[in-house]
Amino acid sequence: MTRPQNTADNTAKGTLYVVSAPSGAGKTSLLKAVLARMPELKLSISHTTRPQRPGETDGQDYHFVSVEDFEQMLEQESFLEHAEVFGNYYGTSRVWLESQLKLGHDVVLEIDWQGARQVRSLMPECRSIFILPPSQEELHNRLTGRGQDSEEVIQSRMAAAHREIKHYDEYDYLVINDDFESACTELSAIFTARRLRLESQQVRQQSLLSELLS
Ligand code: GDP
Ligand code: ADP
Repeated sequence: MTRPQNTADNTAKGTLYVVSAPSGAGKTSLLKAVLARMPELKLSISHTTRPQRPGETDGQDYHFVSVEDFEQMLEQESFLEHAEVFGNYYGTSRVWLESQLKLGHDVVLEIDWQGARQVRSLMPECRSIFILPPSQEELHNRLTGRGQDSEEVIQSRMAAAHREIKHYDEYDYLVINDDFESACTELSAIFTARRLRLESQQVRQQSLLSELLS
């Protein structure tokens, strides 16, 4: 009888996804919508020294920490990667991420291109996705429409957008967030296709395969 091939401990290691986009391109809204449909996908909550925005919840959107706390975590090597973006520090918790992947969960990191580079070199098996706005004008509209940043901050984010976009070709996938629903569907398709790969399905569908082949 042919048995499905098992990994050593019968668990599929989760896939790590890195999602980057210029600020305002819509990555947070898109990921929120996609994660609501795909509960098996976990979003890493970064640590940041940036001030909390209205409507953001500590521990849910970010772990908001002081510069001193962040520096202490850096010393303790608590971060898989970290970067300074718009004058604030951002970092991804190493322990949480590794535990989730070990449990077989797929994990999404919503991080900038500098962080993406660090993660790619540490974990080359990760998949990376870059999200683009449909135009510069629409990017400015979205940053303004979000109503959470001053005009000065928006101007600096527009300038930074250009620098971020220059790195688009370091990523595996490119999604244009023009129509929100279409972009959600495209993003979901990337996550879904990966979950359907033979080696993942052999572990996930072990009992079905055993039953069908018995
Ligand atoms: P937003 O992207 O406009 O919503 O602004 P944020 O303040 O939430 O994020 C600013 C930038 O920091 C974005 O490019 C994020 O992708 C990036 N960022 C957030 N968390 C992390 C992290 O843990 N590591 C790194 N390297 N970048 C991060
Ligand atoms: P990011 O996390 O990339 O900075 P957000 O998810 O905060 O971006 O989105 C920026 C703003 O643009 C938000 O106000 C959001 O509601 C809006 N937005 C996102 N996607 C679209 C879209 N496809 N069409 C119109 N507005 C959008």
